[in-house]
Amino acid sequence: MTTPEQPAQKTTRARKTTAAKRTSTPRKTAAGASTGTLPDPTEREVILEVNSLQKYFPVTRGIIFRKKIGDVQAVDGLNFKLSKGETLGLVGESGCGKSTTGRLLTRLLEPTGGKVLFEGKDITHASMSTMRPLRRDIQMIFQDPYSSLNPRHNIGTIVGAPFRIQGIETEKGVKRSVQELLELVGLSPEHYNRYPHEFSGGQRQRIGIARALALRPKLIVCDEPVSALDVSIQAQVINLLQDVQTELDLTYVFIAHDLSVVRHISNRVAVMYLGKIVELGDADSIAKRPAHPYTRGLLDAVPVPDPFAPLPASELRGEIPSPLSPPSGCRFRTRCPYAQERCAMEVPLLREVADDQFVACHFPLHGEVAPMPEAVELSTTAG
Ligand code: SF4
Repeated sequence: MTTPEQPAQKTTRARKTTAAKRTSTPRKTAAGASTGTLPDPTEREVILEVNSLQKYFPVTRGIIFRKKIGDVQAVDGLNFKLSKGETLGLVGESGCGKSTTGRLLTRLLEPTGGKVLFEGKDITHASMSTMRPLRRDIQMIFQDPYSSLNPRHNIGTIVGAPFRIQGIETEKGVKRSVQELLELVGLSPEHYNRYPHEFSGGQRQRIGIARALALRPKLIVCDEPVSALDVSIQAQVINLLQDVQTELDLTYVFIAHDLSVVRHISNRVAVMYLGKIVELGDADSIAKRPAHPYTRGLLDAVPVPDPFAPLPASELRGEIPSPLSPPSGCRFRTRCPYAQERCAMEVPLLREVADDQFVACHFPLHGEVAPMPEAVELSTTAG
């Protein structure tokens, strides 16, 4: 077993200083405050654009004659843009569709509808041959550092796989490049010949990060990269992600179920519920003054690190409904303490309630009540 996280801290701290001098890419400090303000979103280059993105999984019945009986509406009509150098946090409970969204963005899943544009190029239904070169630019870090590394392969093979698959001969040779990547993520070059079982959870996640960085991507989808780690290791991995973002000018989509973790690393946050974005905006504004009852419920559920503090009293009640048959109108209405008759009739659309804060709610916690449309959009889903 190797010494766990000590060398990592030294390496990344040293790099942090040089990297900060070299680039002005915005990042957040460990305390969550921004050390550099991102310019206005309209002034930055959009790297990723998502329009009305949908993913429905068909549900069938029968053994010989399979009959479709419905669809699991995992993702239903997502819209957002992501600027270069930005981190967008996707947050929500298990089953809200955030991981499915991550897989749609990386094209590990085929969307049912909508569009995904990467650097202005439509990749929604791009073929494997079209996607192959794009795989260098779009990478993913997976949740489970145990199952995402092949136990039969050594670290050199795992981290060097992207070079071999893409047929890239690096200047210094694959071995030297892999060793440099290991150093970049705070591991030792001597780890090259070791196997995944010889590492701790945090070190394994660093290996996963090294593999994602191998081809110098532009966009990385981080799918719950710290959920399976201890709290102290979570902080180290998040700091590492921020350091490499600064050093390599990366853009992140950061998926997690813990709003406090997402707020810490993200410039903007999108809160998802049952396949839809219910609130989208600046991370600090949303955390300080949520406009959607669900966002407030998530914030209330964040544990306070004080053993004498009263237990958090969240207004969230009940379980998340089945995405096979979501509630009509507002999908959150069956759990919302402020639900009214209108909420069952009309699908709330995302609208701006404050500067860079958008909410999909007829009766938000702040801002104006949504005006009644002339023609009410009746939900077609079950009630
Ligand atoms: Fe609650 Fe109605 Fe707002 Fe939905 S639209 S979150 S049910 S108040």
